[in-house]
Amino acid sequence: MRTELSTETCLKKVSLVDLAGNVFLTIIKFAAGTLANSAALLSDAVHSASDVFSTLVMYVGVKVSTKEPNKKYPYGYGKLESVTAIIMSMILFSAGAGIGISGIQKIMAGNSDNLTTPGVFALIVALLSVAIKEGMFWYIYRFGKSVNSQAMLAEAWHQRTDALASIGSVVGILGARLGFPLLDPLAAIIIAVFILKTALSIFAEAVNKIIDRAIDDELKGQIKQIIISVEGVLAVHSVRGKYTADSIRVDAGFYINSEMTVAEATEIKECVKYKLLEEIPTISYCMINAYPMKNSAANRKAALKKKLD
Ligand SMILES: [Zn+2]
Repeated sequence: MRTELSTETCLKKVSLVDLAGNVFLTIIKFAAGTLANSAALLSDAVHSASDVFSTLVMYVGVKVSTKEPNKKYPYGYGKLESVTAIIMSMILFSAGAGIGISGIQKIMAGNSDNLTTPGVFALIVALLSVAIKEGMFWYIYRFGKSVNSQAMLAEAWHQRTDALASIGSVVGILGARLGFPLLDPLAAIIIAVFILKTALSIFAEAVNKIIDRAIDDELKGQIKQIIISVEGVLAVHSVRGKYTADSIRVDAGFYINSEMTVAEATEIKECVKYKLLEEIPTISYCMINAYPMKNSAANRKAALKKKLD
């Protein structure tokens, strides 16, 4: 419950800062890009505008994915966070593609003579954008880490990429002012490449989480150790686990003495479940089965082996 509360609080703070920062940057970049003739800054402005939209998508996504499980969705809404990340990556990809194409068109259409030199106002705004975006990266990264939210961390790295893109603007504008006007649209294209790369990595990570990747052998071994350490467990029957969004689901079975009563078996099952959930906090759900070990000689052998282990 406490984690959910802090996720909620972090989300509100992060979304507010994100939204305010991007609205401000969109306005000032459009103004400076137009008034001071900078293609790089105008591209950056288009991108900031798409960021305003993606922040709204993130907010809704995280809010919905932290909702409590209910009768209709008994496993909760965790996967919706990955869905949100996929939508965000697509918005980012189209913004990047648009900026890249526009930069290429400018370079193809113009020679150095008809490209106008950007004014000093464009340079100041580009520098301001680098500072604001880097600040936003650290602000969001801190919250994302503390609540371990995939979407929030993706959003933080997005800010860092934006800061790098604005450094591209600075270089382009400065270069153009120093007598190389092609550098401004060239910077716009480099910005686009950064944006496309970020979009693809966010997409890949979200897809990886949504397709139920199996847990690794090390974690499987850890789970086996925990099960076997519970009193009454003779041997491990099977362990299966998969990642679902940011948590792990486990299916496990073990052998118990066949002369045990149902009540005793249930108690051992509950004990295994409790220990797993407590010792590996990323496990959100486990399905536990107990199997009777019939042969009493096998019983003794398994119990002895366990003692020796
Ligand atoms: Zn951005």
